Amino acid sequence: MQEVGKNVTATFKVKDVLFFECHSEADIDKIRAQYGKDICADDDFWELKKNAKYATLIFVADPKTVEPFKVYKSDRSAFKTVNSVKEELVINRRTIIKHPRDCERGKHYFVFEGHTHCRFCGCAFTYEETMRTRPDYQTVKRIMRPSMWNDEWLHVELDHVAKAKLPQIGRQDVRKRLIKSVGVCPADDGRQTPYYGNPVYYAQHGLGCCCRKCLEKFYGIPKDVPLLEHDLEYFTDLIMEYIRERCI
Ligand SMILES: [Zn+2]
Ligand SMILES: [Zn+2]
Repeated sequence: MQEVGKNVTATFKVKDVLFFECHSEADIDKIRAQYGKDICADDDFWELKKNAKYATLIFVADPKTVEPFKVYKSDRSAFKTVNSVKEELVINRRTIIKHPRDCERGKHYFVFEGHTHCRFCGCAFTYEETMRTRPDYQTVKRIMRPSMWNDEWLHVELDHVAKAKLPQIGRQDVRKRLIKSVGVCPADDGRQTPYYGNPVYYAQHGLGCCCRKCLEKFYGIPKDVPLLEHDLEYFTDLIMEYIRERCI
C-alpha cells in the first residue's frame, strides 16, 4: 500500500480478484449493491465512477505494516504489488510475478529509454535490428520469449469471453482494432488495450502492438507518427496468425 508518490508502508495479500465489464450505470449500481459496503467509498466516488467501462475488485487479506520503502514505478498503472517485500514484484495489473532471479533465467522486463533494455538487469533487447525488418509471426514469437510480459501473454489461456469470440474474428476486425488503439498515439497510451474479453487484446499484448510505447520499444516505430499502412497490414497479419493458431 502506497500513497501517491510516497513510500510503501504496508503490504497485504490478494485473496481474490474480480473483473467486470460495465455497459451501463445499472452495472455499476449492481456492483455497488453487492460490494459497496466493503468498498467503503462515499457518494462522490460512485458519482465519479458511474460511467466506468471496467471495474476491478481486489479482495485483500492479511494487511501488515512494513518498514517504509520505495518502489520504482514509471507508468501510471494503479497496482504494482510487492509480495514478500523486495523479493517479488507484480508488474501491471495482471498476475505476472517478477522474481529477481527471472533475469538470470533469461526472462526480462523490457523498457524503452533511447534503446530497449531490461528495467531490472539493464541487459539490451538484442533484436532491435531484426524487428525493424518486420519478421514473420513465428520469428516474433521466438524473439518475445525473453520478454516475460509478452511471452506470458502469447501463451496464457484465453478467458471464456475471448474464447467464444475466437472463431468470429476476421481481418477487418483486427484492422479496425489496431487503427482504434494504435493508429495514432492516444492521450492514455498504455491503457488502450484491455486485458480481458477479446483474443485480439491478448495478441496485441503478446506481440507488442497494444500501445504506442510497445510499438516503439519493440519495432522502433516513433510514437508521434501515425501508423503507416504497411505496418498496419503487418500487424494485422501477425495478429491473424495468432488467431489462427489459437483456433486449432
Ligand atoms: Zn533482466
Ligand atoms: Zn503496450
